[in-house]
Amino acid sequence: MRVSVIGCGYLGAVHAASMAQLGHEVVGIDVDAAKTDLLASGTAPFYEPGLPEALAAARATGRLAFTTDPAAAAGSRVHFLCVGTPQQHGEFRADLTYVEDAFAALLPHLAPGDLVVGKSTVPVGTAEALAQRLTTTGATLVWNPEFLREGFAVQDTLHPDRLVYGLPTDAEGEPTADGARAAAVLDEVYAQPLADGTPLVVCDYATAQLVKVAANSFLATKISFINAMAELCESTGADVTRLADAIGYDDRIGRRFLNAGLGFGGGCLPKDIRAFMARAGELGVDQALSFLREVDAINMRRRVRMVDLAREVCGGSIVGLRIAVLGAAFKPDSDDIRDSPALSVAAQMQLQGAHVTVTDPQALPNARAAWPGLAYADTAEEAAADADVVLLATEWPEYRRLDPAALGTVVAHRRVLDGRNVLDPRAWRAAGWTYRALGRP
Ligand code: NAD
Repeated sequence: MRVSVIGCGYLGAVHAASMAQLGHEVVGIDVDAAKTDLLASGTAPFYEPGLPEALAAARATGRLAFTTDPAAAAGSRVHFLCVGTPQQHGEFRADLTYVEDAFAALLPHLAPGDLVVGKSTVPVGTAEALAQRLTTTGATLVWNPEFLREGFAVQDTLHPDRLVYGLPTDAEGEPTADGARAAAVLDEVYAQPLADGTPLVVCDYATAQLVKVAANSFLATKISFINAMAELCESTGADVTRLADAIGYDDRIGRRFLNAGLGFGGGCLPKDIRAFMARAGELGVDQALSFLREVDAINMRRRVRMVDLAREVCGGSIVGLRIAVLGAAFKPDSDDIRDSPALSVAAQMQLQGAHVTVTDPQALPNARAAWPGLAYADTAEEAAADADVVLLATEWPEYRRLDPAALGTVVAHRRVLDGRNVLDPRAWRAAGWTYRALGRP
């Protein structure tokens, strides 16, 4: 099937390459010519494991092209909307400008029977409004939220853990005739994952839009729950990692996403829970989500607490001290620095008078561009040279594996802050380091 993918960022570029791998003929469209040029030459414009290979495989089939021309969407049966929906400046609400612009650019190129398939994360009500504007085109809107995780994006797109189709529905909540036709077309698009047994949830627009923000709210809540427990552990001398192990054995709770530390960041969770709160307010049900305000506050407090911990471990002040920050990406296996806890803490420490040097295996170009005032080094050893404190802020495998004895030979003082609770305190203490972590004695 011929499909267009509009917006070729972390979501869209992977989606375009994956759709071509699934056998479709794909055109990726983005307003950023630098990005489409790179993608057209087979180069991933950002770090995502498996994406270069996926692009190469798709290009070899001759079924994948990229352009900045919205007219290239004409002739596609399905048009995936994958543009960004960031937080509005100075507000919690989502900025829907990119969705609006992409949709307006697509409208003149739609033919009767086409599907416009929304994958961006949007406030509930957005799909209904867009669908209204399709009535004169004969095209149908479907909301098909995306759940990929950066770092596993290709795998998650080819083998999703579920698919959700938000369809136009009648008064009884059943898909309309257009909705049923749209579902049949999407079944063809996703024939392979469906044949592999991927669960499919068919629902109305509102449910489909809510599924995505509900899922992210749950994940954010789980992380902030364990970080709230970490605060209790800090004031009682308890160990949050043991606590998480013990409660995680209950399979109603589960151990995943119960890692206390610097909390969540990135281009999704923080802005999604804020946009969800803003939308609930508009709908007059803000009380239903007031707990998310606390989830957000707990998360942000961890960053402040980490700066305090640095001060504590250095005898009360970090002014003039050298601090090495290992990690700039918001999580390992990504170069995405949007709302990165690592960079947020690094910048705070710098503002409070420390000399901060940041390193990261993949995210240095993005970090340098966003935070030019920080110092950067290519490796952990270079960042840690003469450091008074080393902070592990993003749990890249190479930082988890660092040899405390070897790193101890380059630093000025053996003090380590484990911002992700991934180092072995006994090994680091045995090598002469002062080891401190959030939520642990
Ligand atoms: P991104 O910023 O990496 O990519 C968005 C892309 O859209 C950019 O390349 C931008 O140039 C392009 N764009 C903007 N306006 C356009 C227009 N008018 N026409 C064509 N292209 C345009 O963002 P992302 O991380 O890919 O996220 C996209 C959406 O997917 C967001 O709603 C996000 O919440 C959601 N999402 C993201 C992830 C993730 O892990 N990144 C996962 C699930 C859902």
